[in-house]
Amino acid sequence: MRFANVGGRLNLVIADQYVDLEKASDGVIAADPQAIFEHWETALGWIGERDLAEYARPLDGPLGAPVPRPRQVFAMSLNYIAHADESPFAIDPVFEAFTKFPSCIAGPGDEIPIAGERIDHEVELVFVIGKRAHNVSEADAWKHVAGLMVGQDISDRSALTPEVFKPGRPFHQLSLGKSSPAFGPTGPVLVTPDELDAPTDLSIQCWVNGDLKQSARTSAMTFPIPVMLSRLSRHVALLPGDLCFTGTPDGVGMLADPPRFLRPGDVVRSAIEGLGVIENTITAVQS
Ligand code: ZN
Repeated sequence: MRFANVGGRLNLVIADQYVDLEKASDGVIAADPQAIFEHWETALGWIGERDLAEYARPLDGPLGAPVPRPRQVFAMSLNYIAHADESPFAIDPVFEAFTKFPSCIAGPGDEIPIAGERIDHEVELVFVIGKRAHNVSEADAWKHVAGLMVGQDISDRSALTPEVFKPGRPFHQLSLGKSSPAFGPTGPVLVTPDELDAPTDLSIQCWVNGDLKQSARTSAMTFPIPVMLSRLSRHVALLPGDLCFTGTPDGVGMLADPPRFLRPGDVVRSAIEGLGVIENTITAVQS
């Protein structure tokens, strides 16, 4: 199944048509796209038993973030070997997780206001928690995943790099540089894993102004989804509707030669096979 946020209302996507689930279910399923994760499996069961095609109609509003208000947003550093190899930070695989604060979440076509000279793109596969996960094994991990989306982990390198965090100041952190408003665009829809022939091996790409910058396959992750979910869940209870950004492949602007950072007017297009495309325009932050 595919779910969308149309003008703030939960919709089921059937081909290129949209079903308002609150209306089609006569209120059994809430309109709030965030609410479905509190009863995810029950809702999937209800939808699966019905033919909702009679309620389908063309898109009639703006697409928002499919998961608009996660309580927690996790992310991974250097989860693709080629990205680790291009970076000066680490070569050996290290499980390094961080958080993006939930106020950074934005929709698939939202503008991204930036202030600063070192803002960068990172296309990433995002998985969504459908069932509370604490101390979950890798074998059971997929049972806790509601679905997958395209995401961008927009990153302010000036808040992240050794130029700011110098040797002798060991508490390097990533969260502040990853969490400005709209630094976490997602979408265009939430896709359940059963919709994909090979959910662990999807092509993933990012273009800036039509130039291909990043291109890889998600099968190249050092810590694939089951490993990431299981490892995170040893420490933290992952809650229904939480997001996990799974790391970016090589080709980020900071590590290009010469470096090329995002500027107002740039259009960042991010795509993952079977999940769709999000496209976000960079703007100047209004002071
Ligand atoms: Zn990232």
